[in-house]
Amino acid sequence: MGAGIRKEKILMKCVICKHGETQLGKTTVTLERNGATLVVKGVPARVCDNCGEAYVDEAITRRLLETAEQALRAGVQVDVREFAASTA
Ligand SMILES: [Zn+2]
Repeated sequence: MGAGIRKEKILMKCVICKHGETQLGKTTVTLERNGATLVVKGVPARVCDNCGEAYVDEAITRRLLETAEQALRAGVQVDVREFAASTA
């Protein structure tokens, strides 16, 4: 853990409702590939405090796609899992 708290306030206006501001939070992402469905819970995202729209970072999205790819290769049809930072 780092010393001191760095304030990372990346406030972003929501592009969907144009009223809310996004707050750091978590969301559930559903990925569908070739008929297989993978639900990932606890994905870090910025969530609109007005309409609930979730914005997932590009790096996180890439991780999700990799996870889906791996699950497909493992023959998974339907799976619900927790987003784990340690799943390298
Ligand atoms: Zn919104």
